[in-house]
Amino acid sequence: PNARGGSPQPKDPKSMLARRDPHGLWPLFAAFVLAGGLSFYALALARANHSPVALWLANGALIGWLLQRPLAQAWPVLVSALLGFVAAKVSLGDSLLETMLLVPFQALETVIVSESIRRRFPQITQDTRFIDLARVGVISALVGSGLCALGLMCILHLWSQVGVLMALNTQFRAHFVGMVIAGSASLVFTLHLRRVPAGRIWPLVRDLILLVAITAGVCVEPRVPLVFLVYLPLLWLVYRHRFAGMVIGMAIIALGVSLATTVGVGPFNLVVGVTPAFRIVMGQVFIGITCFVALPVALVLAEQDRLRKQMQESELRYRMLADYSGDLVMRIRPNGDRMYVSPSVKDLLGWEVEDFHKPRPDLIHPDDRERIAAEVVKLRMEGGTTNATYRLQHKDGHYLWIEAFARLVPSPDGDDTMDIIYTGRDVTERVRIEQALLESQGQLRTVTDNVPAVIARIDMNERYTYVNRYVEQVSGEIPSEIIGRSVREVRGSGLYERLKPYLDRAYDGESVIFEYAAEYRGKPLHFQCHYVPDRDARGKVRGVYALTTEITHIKNAERELLRLAHQDMLTGLANRRYFSERVSIFLMQAQQRNAMVLLALVDIDNFKAINDTYGHAVGDVVLAEVGQCLQKLVREGEMVARLGGDEFVVLCNDIGSLKQAKAFVQSLWERLHITIDAGVAKVTVNMSVGAAICKNELSDDALMKLADDALYKAKEAGRDTYRYLTHGLGNGDGGGGSSGSNGANGHQDIKLGQAR
Ligand code: GH3
Ligand code: MG
Repeated sequence: PNARGGSPQPKDPKSMLARRDPHGLWPLFAAFVLAGGLSFYALALARANHSPVALWLANGALIGWLLQRPLAQAWPVLVSALLGFVAAKVSLGDSLLETMLLVPFQALETVIVSESIRRRFPQITQDTRFIDLARVGVISALVGSGLCALGLMCILHLWSQVGVLMALNTQFRAHFVGMVIAGSASLVFTLHLRRVPAGRIWPLVRDLILLVAITAGVCVEPRVPLVFLVYLPLLWLVYRHRFAGMVIGMAIIALGVSLATTVGVGPFNLVVGVTPAFRIVMGQVFIGITCFVALPVALVLAEQDRLRKQMQESELRYRMLADYSGDLVMRIRPNGDRMYVSPSVKDLLGWEVEDFHKPRPDLIHPDDRERIAAEVVKLRMEGGTTNATYRLQHKDGHYLWIEAFARLVPSPDGDDTMDIIYTGRDVTERVRIEQALLESQGQLRTVTDNVPAVIARIDMNERYTYVNRYVEQVSGEIPSEIIGRSVREVRGSGLYERLKPYLDRAYDGESVIFEYAAEYRGKPLHFQCHYVPDRDARGKVRGVYALTTEITHIKNAERELLRLAHQDMLTGLANRRYFSERVSIFLMQAQQRNAMVLLALVDIDNFKAINDTYGHAVGDVVLAEVGQCLQKLVREGEMVARLGGDEFVVLCNDIGSLKQAKAFVQSLWERLHITIDAGVAKVTVNMSVGAAICKNELSDDALMKLADDALYKAKEAGRDTYRYLTHGLGNGDGGGGSSGSNGANGHQDIKLGQAR
């Protein structure tokens, strides 16, 4: 059971088998046979011909095998291989002790090469750079073979009395050449050959047969040294099969040549006057040179393959991006030809890729054509990038708005020209929305600019952020000169102080309406102003909208209406209604000051006769002139009104004494004897005046009645005279020329005088 206490995972028998396989005995057995067999072959061949070992392939053959295994499993494989070596030596009758002394050096060589490669390339794959791999392999083979040959030299010298230089020379050559050939062969076999597709095995076999045939022919040719002929099928193999061809080809040549040379046939045995050992050296040199001829070719070809594959992959990747992009992607040559057009042109514009290989200015909207042509010229001249939004015609005939981005880049064709990389995107929907927005903004602006009111927005710093154009008509200010400035700056300190309390209330979230007067361009103007808080999405006040309407004309109309309601049209004096409204206030003020009040009724004598004699129009002129005259006679604080017909009234509340009052009435009566030039005639008018003088509380009606009574008395007395009655002035009041009798209601009737 596992640590969590659950039931153990059922094991997949297949995966167990696969896992157990590397631990099996098969790799060890293979290593034993491989190393033993190749050692036996090399030693037996040398013994049979009494010559040194020509080619030591056993260690090299192990390399590929070892690199396939994890480090822990590599050791048993190595030990098995060494056992194979020991078995081969012993089976040929060599001393076990000598063999055992040689074993560490064989192991040393193998370990140096395999571990150098393993360290530098922990994972050898198809993508591994073969040039680097070969460099590491050759250098480590040089070192490994050198050290191994030194060790073997010592043993052989001490044990078999072989000459030091001779031993070192032969061992090093045999080991180094063998390592290069067998090492690369085994690497290629384990890494590459296993993966050769079945379809390519037969051509390889066919080309190998050709090489075998030519190598065999060269080796058995008894007269002419034709060894160079092997280059032909070998290079063919390299060209056709790359590393696999080279390594197997080299192995065939190496085996064939070394075998032939050792058994006394082949091209090198045609050389006369040299020892068999020298012939073996010649064979080794030939194999080495062949290897150095084939290897660079194989490496260059392999590198080329790798790069081509990489390029294809990256090209494929980017090509895919362009091909599957929803945008239209093009590469445009200086002459306008499109070297690449993405297939999206079909989805976007309905055209086939082929339709777009040549420039299509006809598809650009006529209104945009000139602009786009200029853009292209500018881009070609100045380089860099550009973008433009314009209309392209769909195959169906309608236009699409395309937002294009273009960049000038050096042409990949390598002819020192510059191509344009173009990307176009359908933005029709966006442009439509933008246009609609602009249109509605324009409409809104037209409305706001033509609304007969000043619309403004003020931010929290009391600065204008918007003012409509109507402000020009009101104050002559230009919106752009107002925006950004503060209310105090724009409206001046005086007006700002009056506006500020309302502004503060609006900032606090209140919607306020108020009126104010201000002078603009020398004219006193009246305004009604509405401050509305501007709130953000969360309801927080972020400014104030101000709607200001000029109401001067309304104010004037109001005033005019008021004036009309209170004025007598004919004379311009106050009318009866206004007089009635004011009279009680007059009385109250007089009472407060304990002042005397005088109310004098003035009636034109025989006015009807004037009307009848001269006509109504003349009558009107007379009334107007009398009104004017009365107006001139009153002082500030006094009031004159036309009560109707030919009856006027004068009201004074600032009379110091009765004497003054009497004097005033007399003066009034006297001054009203006027002659009026009415155009058609000169009319002389006389007046009757009836005055009421009082001091104590008296209602306006009672005062009026008193004056009316006085007027009646004046008329009764024959007209063109004045009478007055007093009230609440005490006994002394009536003195000073009073000649009238007491009235029924206790009023004194005093006649002060008359005109004639
Ligand atoms: P008395 O001396 O008693 O006052 O005689 P009178 O002729 O003046 O008589 P009264 O004051 O009663 O007559 C007023 C006349 O004024 C009657 C009317 O025809 C005339 N009248 C009233 N209003 C107007 C007006 O607006 N224009 C003109 N031309 N005449 C008016
Ligand atoms: Mg009259």
